[in-house]
Amino acid sequence: MLIQSTPDTITQIRQMGAVTLYEPAGDQPQRERYQAHSLADCITNVSTPKGSKPLLKTMITTACERNCYYCPFRAGHAKTKRVTISPEKLAQAFDELQRARQVDGMFLSSGIIKGSVTTQDKLIDTVEIVRKRYGYRGYIHLKIMPGAEYDQLYRAMQLADRVSVNLEAPTQERLNALAPKKDFANELLRMLQLAQQIKQQHPQEKLANTVTQFVVGAVGDTDLELLALSERLYRQTGVVRAYYSAFSPVKHTPLENVAATHPLREFRLYQASFLLRDYRWELEDLPFVQNGNLRTDIDPKKAYAELHLRQNPVEIMSASREQLMRVPNIGPRSADAIIRARRTGRISDLAHLRQLGMRAPEQAAPYVLLDGRQPPRQLPLF
Ligand code: SF4
Repeated sequence: MLIQSTPDTITQIRQMGAVTLYEPAGDQPQRERYQAHSLADCITNVSTPKGSKPLLKTMITTACERNCYYCPFRAGHAKTKRVTISPEKLAQAFDELQRARQVDGMFLSSGIIKGSVTTQDKLIDTVEIVRKRYGYRGYIHLKIMPGAEYDQLYRAMQLADRVSVNLEAPTQERLNALAPKKDFANELLRMLQLAQQIKQQHPQEKLANTVTQFVVGAVGDTDLELLALSERLYRQTGVVRAYYSAFSPVKHTPLENVAATHPLREFRLYQASFLLRDYRWELEDLPFVQNGNLRTDIDPKKAYAELHLRQNPVEIMSASREQLMRVPNIGPRSADAIIRARRTGRISDLAHLRQLGMRAPEQAAPYVLLDGRQPPRQLPLF
């Protein structure tokens, strides 16, 4: 076994526990929840732009001077064992794990000690060592501390593939109820704006993408608030991904008695967020109900179709790409296949849609016209 020179560090990594309870790192966040009890629990298979990778998810320190109400590492939480690892040791341990082929990639975060700038330096130092001394060129996702400096953000974006600035909540008011020592506009939103600025100022450089994350449902936040901000971030700051983490209470924290958020709410937020980001829907297209949330019993695209397309079906032969993608079960690929096919002939039945690669076209049937006619639909038996 190769992991011999840094057994203490590996033990420390394991002791850190559920460091990423609210911090997804890859493209399939709902598969990343776990509680760490062994080293294997600190390694999770994450879907990244470079493929699926076993990622080491860890922290520089679990000590923290902030007091986010949901977090097991908050200041004053006496039950938490604090663990701190130096950049040198952490980089070395990562190198050994990587050479032993136990990991291929790292998600690195930290509690905040001696301010955000000092902490960010340690995060950057770790990645510098990993990249320069150990020559690691693989996937690194690095956390940006609230209120880090411009030069730190720039360096982090040079070193990492992805950086995250977690907004936690959609407004300052909600953030006050969740993480009272964080400044929404100046420490968090500003980081995302600076990241965009850095990208614009250095268009030739390969720089990390930026992502953000919200803790959902602990402090009365609505889907409308979360998605309105997500839409702004996608359009104005170049954020590539908003993560939504359903709140789950942690014992001995101020929010321990607040009910957990149903995972289905998180799932619907992701579906709606993809409609905004990938399908270019506008916020007002999303079918919010009166309390400002989405329905959890039906996916938002289907809810939209029920409201708008059942009475006014989309004509497959003439609809624009955007209109086609409003129809349940028609995504970008199906829309493109339809547009190509109708240049050379007519699409007049569901079987033709299936031939174009569309799975279960009958699900689209209530919302489309095929060459002027509503396709036949199977009636429910009961
Ligand atoms: S900044 Fe907040 S969320 Fe991060 S470790 Fe400290 S208390 Fe936890």
